Amino acid sequence: MTDPNWLVYENLLAPWAARGTTSRGWEFDEKKDIGKDYRSPFQHDRDRIVHSAAFRRLENKTQVYTNLFQPGDQFRKRLTHSLEVAQIARSIARTLSLNEDLTEAIALSHDIGHAPFGHKGQDILHDLMKNHGGFEHNTQTLRFLCRIERRYPDFDGLNLTYEVREAIAKKGIAKDPGQVEPLKDQFRSHPSPTLEAQVVDMSDPITYTTHDLDDGITAGTITVEMLKNCDFWMEGVEAVKREAPAVDSKILQYQVVKYIIGEQVRDLVETTRKNVQELAPKNIDDIRNHEGTLAGFSPEMKIKHKGLKSFLREYMYDTSNIKRMEHKAREILRRLFDAFLEEPTLLPKSVQKHLDEAKKSGNETRIVCDYIAGMTDRFAVDVHNDLFTSA
Ligand code: MG
Repeated sequence: MTDPNWLVYENLLAPWAARGTTSRGWEFDEKKDIGKDYRSPFQHDRDRIVHSAAFRRLENKTQVYTNLFQPGDQFRKRLTHSLEVAQIARSIARTLSLNEDLTEAIALSHDIGHAPFGHKGQDILHDLMKNHGGFEHNTQTLRFLCRIERRYPDFDGLNLTYEVREAIAKKGIAKDPGQVEPLKDQFRSHPSPTLEAQVVDMSDPITYTTHDLDDGITAGTITVEMLKNCDFWMEGVEAVKREAPAVDSKILQYQVVKYIIGEQVRDLVETTRKNVQELAPKNIDDIRNHEGTLAGFSPEMKIKHKGLKSFLREYMYDTSNIKRMEHKAREILRRLFDAFLEEPTLLPKSVQKHLDEAKKSGNETRIVCDYIAGMTDRFAVDVHNDLFTSA
C-alpha cells in the first residue's frame, strides 16, 4: 500500500515544522495506527473542532459589533473572523514550509473560549470570577475543547493533539494572571509553542485590525476625515491611487484593506524567515526551547501595526456606541451570573448535573461561568429577557 498523502506532504516541510508522525500525541490514547490513516492527527483535530458546537456558536459571538445592538449581517462575527485568520495563517505557513493542517486547527480554535459580547464579556466574567480562579478566554478555549464538548464514549473533550492544546495553553499562560486551570500546567516546561502557533498568534492581530477598520468604515463609525489620522491607511490610499487614480470609494476601501494585510504578511514572512535562519534550529524542540517568539514583524512594521491599533482604540473601540453596548453587556452577564448561582434550578438539567458534581469540590461557580461563557450574544440576551422582563 502506498503512503497516505499527508505523509508525503509532511516530507516536504521544514525540519522544524510540526509533523503528525512526531506529534507528542493525543490527550488520550485512541490506539490508532496513524501510518494507515488517510488523515493526519492534525487533520483529525481540525475536523473535530469544525464539528464542535462551540465552533458553531462563534457565528453569534461579537467580534466588535454585536448585531443585537448594531444591526447589519455584513459585520464580522467570531466565526468569520476565525475563518479569515485561518486563511491568512495558512498562506503564511505554506510560504514558510510549516504544517498547514496544524496551523488551520489552531487558527479555527483560537477564539472558541470567548464569552458573549467580545473582550468586554471576558472582563466582566473575570470580574465576577475574581475570587474563584478568574476568567481568561484562551484558557476557556482549552476547557471547552478538552472537557466541556462531550461526544466520545471514553473521554470528555475532543482529544486534541498536544500541539493544538499547547498553542492554546501557551496563550492562556502568557495572559497570567488569568484563569486558574490545571489543563494548562503540562505546557509550562518550555518557553515557546510551535512556529505554527506563533504564526497564528501574529495572523490574529493582522486580521482583526484590518477587518475592524473595514467594519468601522462600513458602519460609519470611522469617517474619511478620521482616516487622515491613520498613517498606514493613508500610505495604502497613496499606493492604490498610484495604480488606479479614478477608483471609487468602496473599491478604494477594499483595496486599502488588502494592501494593509498584504504589507503585514510580507513583512511577517520575511522577518520570521530571517529570525529562523539566525537561530538555525535543527528540529521542533529547538523552536520550543527558544526564549521569545520567532514569528514577528520588523521594527518598522511594529510601529505601523501599533499605529493601527492606537487609531482603532481612539476612533472605534472607545466610542460611545461601543461603550453603550458594553454597558448593556455588563448588566446582562452580571444578572445572569447572580441568578444562576442563587437559583440553580434556572439552569438546564444537563448543567445542573455538573453543578451538583462540582459542589462536592466547591467549584459550582466555575460551572455557572462555563455555561455563561458558552452562550452566544443572542442567547444571553434571550435568557436575560426571559428571566427579567415582565411579560
Ligand atoms: Mg481572534
